[in-house]
Amino acid sequence: MDVVVIGAGVIGLSCAWRLAQQGAEVTVVDDGGPAASDVAAGMLAPVTEAAFGEEPLLRLACHAVATYPSYVDELGGSEVVPVRHEGTLSVGLTADDRAELARLTTYRDGLGLRTEQLTRRDTREREPFLAASVGGALLAADDLSVDNRAVRAALRAQARAAGAEMLTGGPARLQVDAGRAVGVAVGVDEVRADVVVLAAGARSSVVDGVPEHALPPVVPVKGHVLRLRPQPGRHGPPALTHTVRALVHGREVYLVPRADGELVVGATVEHQGLDDTVVVAAVRGLLRDAHEVLPIVDELALAEVSTGLRPGTPDNAPVVGWSAVPGLFVATGHYRNGILLSGVTGEEVARQVAGHPPSALWQQLGPRRFTLQEAHA
Ligand SMILES: Cc1cc2nc3c(=O)[nH]c(=O)nc-3n(C[C@H](O)[C@H](O)[C@H](O)COP(=O)(O)OP(=O)(O)OC[C@H]3O[C@@H](n4cnc5c(N)ncnc54)[C@H](O)[C@@H]3O)c2cc1C
Repeated sequence: MDVVVIGAGVIGLSCAWRLAQQGAEVTVVDDGGPAASDVAAGMLAPVTEAAFGEEPLLRLACHAVATYPSYVDELGGSEVVPVRHEGTLSVGLTADDRAELARLTTYRDGLGLRTEQLTRRDTREREPFLAASVGGALLAADDLSVDNRAVRAALRAQARAAGAEMLTGGPARLQVDAGRAVGVAVGVDEVRADVVVLAAGARSSVVDGVPEHALPPVVPVKGHVLRLRPQPGRHGPPALTHTVRALVHGREVYLVPRADGELVVGATVEHQGLDDTVVVAAVRGLLRDAHEVLPIVDELALAEVSTGLRPGTPDNAPVVGWSAVPGLFVATGHYRNGILLSGVTGEEVARQVAGHPPSALWQQLGPRRFTLQEAHA
């Protein structure tokens, strides 16, 4: 079987890898544009991401975090893809913030998610640099983090090793013949295929040539992210060892430490279409909130400021399944969880493309759920 995958983010690459492993001739086409996969913070966070009314996503996310260690092993092990296992601390700065956190915790407890309330002292022992105004914390020991750039690089290497071809050029346009997807065009080149996998992230709903009724309802959701690093020549204990997620006067900020001392600080949530401009106010806001939680950020170097576009969907869950156009398979819409869900998505796409029906965890996540909702509305 010849398969073309549009998009070389973590989702497209994971699909390409698993499809090539099961014997398909795979070509990945990418336009070299910005990828959310390189901007993300790399939290693997089913518990602290669990939101009201998102149970199908939660079940999938719990499965993904439980199988992440074996995924990392297959990608070359933790030397290649560093994962942090210290867990995630949720903290609130003000009484209102703590009340909001308590409300979410009650909901998460009701779902059977494991968390542990830490006293102020326990919290300080774990993270001595947290601001004095941070009291106790809620520990989600099962929420891990990973270096997402390493995940993408390892996926690319594994997909190549399994035989997938990488083609970088302009944007791919879907080719449709007699109502069926038959490949893509990139500039003047054409790549024919039995199956096309649409994995173009936040731009999945604007890929040329895809008939309107088959476009996934993906909306770009912009996020600003900062990468802070120790200043050259300055050595000392790491600013953090756990991921810290904080509510600061009702605003969310997270700080995700890497083993090399980098701290990823994010992220805004903005609906600005495909605009990815870095805006001063957003950067200022993130720094202000990060500083309220962890004053020592003042001593770090501001190494990188970036924005990324999350592929959002109406119900915040991914869209994975056959589209209304025969031969066109959709694998997108991973919104805030694409790094976490990349491994399980690749496996599921390979299964379904091979002719299997969706497995239990994915049954409610196909593209038809939106058309059915419209029909009932
Ligand atoms: C600020 C921020 C923080 C995040 N934090 C986390 C986190 O902590 N944990 C987590 O799990 N997830 C996180 N995410 C979400 C995660 O990054 C995304 O869900 C995931 O990267 C989506 O991967 P993707 O492969 O679908 O898209 P992308 O990584 O965006 O890749 C899509 C690729 O397709 C290419 N492309 C687009 N159109 C075309 C075309 N027509 N032809 C050819 N190529 C095309 C693009 O250039 C790009 O290379 C975060 C995202 C953002 C923005």
